[in-house]
Amino acid sequence: MKNESSVLLIFTGGTISMGENPATQSLSPLDSAQVLSFIPELKMLRVNISSVSFNPLIDSSDIQPASWVRIAEIIRGHYDSYDGFVVLHGTDTMAYSASALSFMLENLTKPVIFTGSQLPVGVLRSDAKENLITAIELAAARNEDGEAMVPEVCLFFEDKLMRGNRSTKRNTEAFNAFASFNYPELAKTGVHIRYASSYIHHEKTKQSFSIQKKLDTNIAILKIFPGITEATVKAILSITGLRAVVLESFGAGNAPRVEWLFKLLKNANDKGIVIVNVTQCRSGSVEMGRYETSINLQKAGVVSGYDMTLEATVTKLMYLLGQTNNVKEIRTQISIPLRGEITID
Ligand code: ASP
Repeated sequence: MKNESSVLLIFTGGTISMGENPATQSLSPLDSAQVLSFIPELKMLRVNISSVSFNPLIDSSDIQPASWVRIAEIIRGHYDSYDGFVVLHGTDTMAYSASALSFMLENLTKPVIFTGSQLPVGVLRSDAKENLITAIELAAARNEDGEAMVPEVCLFFEDKLMRGNRSTKRNTEAFNAFASFNYPELAKTGVHIRYASSYIHHEKTKQSFSIQKKLDTNIAILKIFPGITEATVKAILSITGLRAVVLESFGAGNAPRVEWLFKLLKNANDKGIVIVNVTQCRSGSVEMGRYETSINLQKAGVVSGYDMTLEATVTKLMYLLGQTNNVKEIRTQISIPLRGEITID
């Protein structure tokens, strides 16, 4: 086994890459060398660290599917030269990016760890240092056989390593900003790093690593609320070019039993629009048919997203729509786990 692992840092932007201008006290992006100069402790890690950077660095609210393609291409371009990858990213859309990459990176056998911070790296009390140092340790970690400890797309924040496509930003303030509501953490960090080995996926395929770059964004999110009008639902379902809808329903996958809703959904479904039911609750799963208020959805052809996060559902749809025009196939694939994003008992 090699002594030192090598890790590639991919700087995309976000608060972690920002510093406070002492003159104006406002935050502005630093370059990757400046960010690293705030963390001299990195030299203490027995890891070979290199970096590549988006230019310019971006606030993650400006992340687009093209940015995910860029991250995927960087990983593919350096895949054989590194043991792991750390993506420095703004927190706002980090869960979307981690979810998207989990689908786009196929036959992954190396760690890809997203991290960021709530306070800029150059600010006293910043959480950037700990998050980045630990993310690098996690990306570099290998077992006695030399295999990666966490060969998945993950998100590390504060003290939790989560499966990327199970993570959600839950707090705009706390250092503990992310949670994985429906799947156990893959590792917990404290004095020691404790891996939850039985929850970590190890890819068994012999096929080589590849990336999938075609993403289709013709998707809408339809959040149900008491009082939602027929005109609103109709307007959303008649968007030109619409191919899929994420229906955010109540509780275990329920919606009002009004006839117009059933008809609009059925009509959209018959036209080939894929409608996926996910719950507005943070924890738990859609269970269509459990209540009478979800039977109409089933009858209309709506498919279950079970316990998928919104971020995973949106990005999985983009990925599936990019792969095929076969609506039946997309409806099947959306309801089965491709990268551990769904729990099916
Ligand atoms: N707006 C910032 C971003 O997502 C917030 C952060 O990084 O925490 O890029």
